[in-house]
Amino acid sequence: MEDIIKQVLEFMPQDDITDAAFEGANLVLYTKNKHFFLNCSDTVRKAVYAVKKRIEVRPDPALCMVVEDAEQELRKLIDPEAKIDLIEWDVQRSIVIIEAENPGVVIGKGGEGLHAIKEAISWVPVIKRTPPIRSELIENIRASLYKNSDKRRKFLHETGKRIYNGWKRAHKHEWVRLSYLGSGRQVGRSCLLLQTPESRILLDCGIDVSQEGQEMYPYLDSPDFRLEEIDAIVVSHAHLDHTGFLPYLFKFGYKGPVYCTLPTRDIMTLLQLDTVKIARHEGQEPLYTSKEIEDVVLHTITLDYEEVTDITPDVRITFYNSGHMLGSAMVHLHVGNGLHNILYTADIKYTNTFLLSKAHTKFPRLETVLLEATYGGRDNTLPPMAEQNDIFAGIIKKTLDRNGKLLMPVLGSGRGQEVLAHIHKLVRDGKIEPVPVYVDGMVWDITAIHTAYPEFLNPQMRNQIFHKDDNPFLAEYIRQVGSNKERQKIIESDERCIILATSGMLTGGASVEYLKGLAEQKKNALVFSSYLGPGSYGRRIHDGEKQLAFQKAGGGQDVLNINLEVHKIEITGHADRRELMQFVSHLQPRPKRIMFNHGEQSRCLDIASSMHKKFRVETLAPKNLDAIRLR
Ligand SMILES: [Zn+2]
Repeated sequence: MEDIIKQVLEFMPQDDITDAAFEGANLVLYTKNKHFFLNCSDTVRKAVYAVKKRIEVRPDPALCMVVEDAEQELRKLIDPEAKIDLIEWDVQRSIVIIEAENPGVVIGKGGEGLHAIKEAISWVPVIKRTPPIRSELIENIRASLYKNSDKRRKFLHETGKRIYNGWKRAHKHEWVRLSYLGSGRQVGRSCLLLQTPESRILLDCGIDVSQEGQEMYPYLDSPDFRLEEIDAIVVSHAHLDHTGFLPYLFKFGYKGPVYCTLPTRDIMTLLQLDTVKIARHEGQEPLYTSKEIEDVVLHTITLDYEEVTDITPDVRITFYNSGHMLGSAMVHLHVGNGLHNILYTADIKYTNTFLLSKAHTKFPRLETVLLEATYGGRDNTLPPMAEQNDIFAGIIKKTLDRNGKLLMPVLGSGRGQEVLAHIHKLVRDGKIEPVPVYVDGMVWDITAIHTAYPEFLNPQMRNQIFHKDDNPFLAEYIRQVGSNKERQKIIESDERCIILATSGMLTGGASVEYLKGLAEQKKNALVFSSYLGPGSYGRRIHDGEKQLAFQKAGGGQDVLNINLEVHKIEITGHADRRELMQFVSHLQPRPKRIMFNHGEQSRCLDIASSMHKKFRVETLAPKNLDAIRLR
C-alpha cells in the first residue's frame, strides 16, 4: 500500500476502515462503522495536520441506506422551503447530490441539516443551488460523470498514485525547463511544456483559428514532446486558442488528468462541441468527435481559485482569478521544495468589469512570470473603460430614441454577458427603457452557464445576485431566440430592441442573418466590440464599405446596402499596454524574470524591452520551439 495511506491509517480505528483511495490529490477513507462516520472530525483533523493532505471519510456502500428508502427519508427530512429540484446518487462514492433552490435551508444553521441527513441515511450529502436557467450542456456533463462513476473513481485513484508514489525518474540534479509549442510571438495555439526531472506538464493546448492546416496546431512534433510522458495538463480558460486541441490528445491516447475550474470545463466543452458542429456543417471532417470531448470531461479535475493542489511529486499548482472571462485562471506553479515559482498568467484583464474582478497580484513566492502581450505594443493603450461604457450607453439611447434596433455581433463568451450586465445597470439607473434584449445562439448557452456559477463573479455582482435577488441574466426583458422563424419575426417587427448574436466578426451565424434584415434602414445601429479579422464582413463594414455582395442560396448574388449607423466600442477582455504595466508594478513579490507570449512579434519585443528598462528585470520574448532553462 502507498506510504501516505499507511501513514494516515495509523490515526484511524483500522478495523473500521474498509477501503482507502485517492481522488486526485485527496485521500478518501470508507468506513463500515456508523459511529465513526458521524464522529470522525477530530481524528481526521489530526491526520490532516500530520500529512498535510485533504482527507475525507465516507460510509462504506454496505452502510449506506438503500437508495429508494433513502430518497423517501430525505423528502421527509428536508423542509419543503428548500425546494428540492433534483436528487442524484453517486453509488460508487457514497455521495448524494441534492439540488435545491434554497440550499441554505438544507444545510441548516451551523450545518445541522447536513448532520441530520448523514445520521438518517448514512450517505455523504453534497448540496448545490439549482441553476436558474437550465443548461442542457451542464446536465449532459453531469449525467456522463455519473454514468462513468466507476471508471472515474479508478482514474482519480491512479492520478493520486502518480502524485504520491514517489519519484518515477532517476535524477541527481534539479532543473526546470520551459518549451514553447505555440503562442510564441503570436496570438493563438497557446501551448507550453514545463519539464522538471520528474514532471512533464502541458499548460494549455489551443488552436489558431485564424490559420489553416499545420499552422493551426501547436508544435507537437517538437523533439521535447512525447504524449505518453505527459503527467498532467493544466487549462487556464475555455477559449479555443487555449483548449481547441485538447480532445485531439485524447484521440491519440492521453489518459491523464486535465486541471481547470468548473466554468472552464463547461464552457470549453460547449466551444469544442461547436467546432465539431461547424466543421460538419461546412462539409469538413472534424479534428475530433464528441466522444473525445466527453473523454476530456471524464478526465477533468476541477479546482477553485486559491485551492492548492499537488499535481505531480514535485509540482504544486494554485489557480488565481485572471479577470478575463468566467472561470479564467492564472496558474501559479510551485516547483520542488521551493526550487522555483512560476506564474503563467494566460489571458488577463487588469481593470474591474461589470462581472469580474481584475487579476490577482499577490503571491507567496514568484521568480518567473509568463505574461500575455496581446496589447503589448507602446501604442496599444485603449481608451478608459468607463469612457467607452458611456459612449456605448449613448449609442443605445440614441438608437432607441429614433425607434431603431441595435445589433451587436459578439463572441459567445464573455463580452455578451458583460453587455447584459451593462444594460441591466442602465435600466436600473433609469438611463434607458427596458426594451427587449434578444440573445441568440451560443450567447444564450454561455449566459446559462454564468447563472450556474455566480460564485465566480466579482463580489459586488455576487452580492447583488444572492442578497438582492437582482440577477442581470434573469431580467424579464431578456429573450432567448432559438429558430430562424423567431429571428425573422424580430427583424420584421417595428419594435425597438437590442440583439446580441454570434459571430463577432460577421463571418457567419445569426449575426449575419440579422445584418441582412437590418442594414438598409438608417434608424438601426451596428456596434462591434471584438477584434475584426481582415476580409471579414465586420472589418469591411467597419472600414467603410457601403455595399456588400452575398451569395444567394439558389445561386447568384444579393447586394446589401449598408445604411445603418456603424460603431466600434474599444472594450476587450485583455489587459492593454497600460494595464500590463500596472499589473507588473503591483505584483508582489517582484519577479526576477518576465517572459512574453500571446502577442504579435513586434508587441512582444516592444513590451519586453520597455519592462526591462522600467522594472530592471530580465525579459524575454521566446519564439515557438524555443526552450528555456528557468532554473
Ligand atoms: Zn482568452
